[in-house]
Amino acid sequence: MTTPDISPSFPSRLPNVGTTVFTVMSALAAEHQAINLGQGFPDFPCDRKLIASVNDAMLADQNQYPPMIGIAALRNGISQKIKSLYGHHYDPEAEITITAGGTQGILTAILACVSPGDEVVIIEPAYDSYRPSIELAGGKTIAVSLQVKRNADGHVTSYEIPWDALASAINSKTRLLIINSPHNPTGMVWQTADLERLAQLVKNTSTLIVSDEVYEHMVYDGAVHHSVASHPELAARSFLISSFGKTYHVTGWKVGYVAAPPALTKEFRKVHQFNVFTVNTPVQYGLASYLADASHYLNLPAFYQAKRDFFRSGLEKTPFKLLPTPGTYFQCADYSALNIPQAKLNEAEFCKWLTTQVGVAAIPVSAFYDRPTESGVIRFCFAKQEQTLAAALQRLQSL
Ligand code: GLN
Repeated sequence: MTTPDISPSFPSRLPNVGTTVFTVMSALAAEHQAINLGQGFPDFPCDRKLIASVNDAMLADQNQYPPMIGIAALRNGISQKIKSLYGHHYDPEAEITITAGGTQGILTAILACVSPGDEVVIIEPAYDSYRPSIELAGGKTIAVSLQVKRNADGHVTSYEIPWDALASAINSKTRLLIINSPHNPTGMVWQTADLERLAQLVKNTSTLIVSDEVYEHMVYDGAVHHSVASHPELAARSFLISSFGKTYHVTGWKVGYVAAPPALTKEFRKVHQFNVFTVNTPVQYGLASYLADASHYLNLPAFYQAKRDFFRSGLEKTPFKLLPTPGTYFQCADYSALNIPQAKLNEAEFCKWLTTQVGVAAIPVSAFYDRPTESGVIRFCFAKQEQTLAAALQRLQSL
């Protein structure tokens, strides 16, 4: 006897959304035993001291619901950290909320302030959660594209902020602008002058800002991260999003935070409490005690710069053309000059081929655009042990 199909049919809330490219590429990498430089996560362990701190909290019976907004010790630590790095004081009670990772913080901020019909401006290539989150809120996504700079041979050399396009995109219906620096996937980093220019752009508007700064501790060559928190006018209208997963090599813990002025935080928490309510207690205690020592995140730029430089110097021995990587743990590379037929494939097909036939997984930059956009550029994650990068390079150098 066959089971009758009684599943009700209903219109999809996200009809154009499939499975996120990061999950798809990680599954393909696992299926083909490829070295996974696709989805962004470290393949090395976090500090044992951090694990011990979480373990201590569990053994100390810190295992029941924490406050809805997160434990005070962690919010205080975040407030001090932001003050010392970016000079802005966020009140831990009224302005900081612990979230289940950066992505939840972004979705919750969007649901909290975007009403049906509101416009939300994003800058593509954009992290793939932004657009569906806006859609769930009933908002209308207005995408502008980073300007792609090319050399005389047509190869991509860098990306620049599209100021003119941004200026024309922002109008009285623009509820929100989402920015992301250091930028996934291009590694582009905003400068002080960029924040100033942005502040001028939104000055006489009611546009709020979601500033995705989850890679804040990954900026290289002596540069510093410029947070919206460092610009008082921007801080006054921004949700600042960050993530412990990226900073402490624990992407699977899914803990992040959102700092925003009281009025924004008040609305944020109305949604947050009925979304996740709150976040894993012992992990919050563990992070709070670990955060007190700034040395880990202060050393992170040097730690990742060494990996970036190692990976780049190996890639330079291949026909890939490297894009600059001033920030993040992603290296973008233009494959269109490879002297093989596959150089003509589109980015998604090239990544599939690279994963299944060469044994190295990467992410197509086209996945960060809504409309079909091909620039012959793919993204590698270099948050890996040197031996992993060396093994991947060996395979890539055979191309
Ligand atoms: N942020 C990570 C990346 O860009 C992926 C996170 C995820 O898989 N959802 O690779």
